[in-house]
Order: sequence, then C-alpha cells, then structure tokens
Amino acid sequence: MLLYLLFAMPAFLLGLWAQMRVQRSFRKYSQVGLSRNLSGAEIARRILDSQGLQHVQIEPAQGFLSDHYDPRGKVLRLSPDVFQGRSVAAAGVAAHEAGHAFQDAENWFFLRVRSAMVPTVQFGSWLGPIIFLVGFFLNLTPVAWLGIGLFGAMAVFAVVTLPVEFDASKRARQFLTSEGIVFQDEAQGVKRVLDAAALTYVAAAIQAISTLLYYAFLLTGFNRD
Ligand SMILES: [Zn+2]
Repeated sequence: MLLYLLFAMPAFLLGLWAQMRVQRSFRKYSQVGLSRNLSGAEIARRILDSQGLQHVQIEPAQGFLSDHYDPRGKVLRLSPDVFQGRSVAAAGVAAHEAGHAFQDAENWFFLRVRSAMVPTVQFGSWLGPIIFLVGFFLNLTPVAWLGIGLFGAMAVFAVVTLPVEFDASKRARQFLTSEGIVFQDEAQGVKRVLDAAALTYVAAAIQAISTLLYYAFLLTGFNRD
C-alpha cells in the first residue's frame, strides 16, 4: 500500500491538477471573444479546406471537452462549447483537432503508430490488471510478466501520444496565425489553452509509466522473497 502511494500518488495528483488547469483555462478563454467572430466549426472548416481536406466532416459532439478527430470516419467531432463557441478557447481546440486531420492526411508516423496501438491498449487496460493478478497470486511469473507487458504497451502508447498532441497544437497555432484567424493577444490565449491541454497528456504518460514501474517492482520484489 505504501509502495503504491509512493509510485502512484504523485502522478495521480499531477493528473488531477492538470485536469483542473485545462478546465479552468478553457472556461476562462471561452469568455474571450474573437475579433473575427468565427465559431469553432467555421474555423475548423476554413483550416481543413485550406489544406484540401474538404472530405473531412465536422460534427457536433456531446459533453465538455469531448473534442476529437476520428481517423477511421474522417470526422472531426467538436463539443458544443467549441462547435458553436466564438471564443479564443474554441478557436484553439477546433484548430488543434484540425491538426490531427492533417497528421492523418499526411499519414504522419507517430499518428500511425498510435492508431496501430489502439486495439492493444483497449483490451490491455482491463485485461492487463487481471492477467497480472492471476499470475501474481497463482505464482505464475511468466503470466504476471505478460500482464506487465500490457502495462508496458499502455505506457508506450501514452508516450507516443505526446508528439501527436504537441504537433497538432503547433500546427493549430501556425494556421490560426497564418490564416489571419487570431491576432496577437488572441494567439497568446490560444497558446495558454493548448499548453494546459498538453499538460494533461504529460500527466497521463507519467501515470502510465509509474503504474508500469509499480507492478514491475511488485513482481520483482515478490520474486526475491
Ligand atoms: Zn489532440
């Protein structure tokens, strides 16, 4: 228990703090209007069209900060605050998601790796702990290591997510400026929102790595006894 707290607690707290920070910064910059008065959906459409991605659809999604790009359906789904919002926050998030659509259109390396890992991570996230515990308690070390392998895959996935997210934000800021959608102060606000969002991915990666270390430590400590 103490070991778990030692490994997982700092990462968990960092994650919570990052979540709070992104929500606060999104809410704050949702109140700041754009001088161009465009909605997030309009901005995403402009950016996509400017890059020849007329085939990528933009749809409204449910929920707060639920924005994402779906590479299979070639659909950009924007949360209500972003889809209709005419704010600095909406512009940043909409442009970020459009950035993922460019990565997909370019068949960008890190996005490809990340997409290829999605199925493994989906079953690994619930099967990993089960396999580990079965191996651990039945004293089947290879089985426990298989579980750890799945935790390892999740950690790699969380780390590969970082360049994907950083790059999408970088592209977003470049396009918002070069297309003349945001100006000086607005660009600063966009940066704040996107940096806060990036921190949540850093926290998630640290969480995944500390989970991996915790279970690996548990098993190797267990073997020594
Ligand atoms: Zn993203």
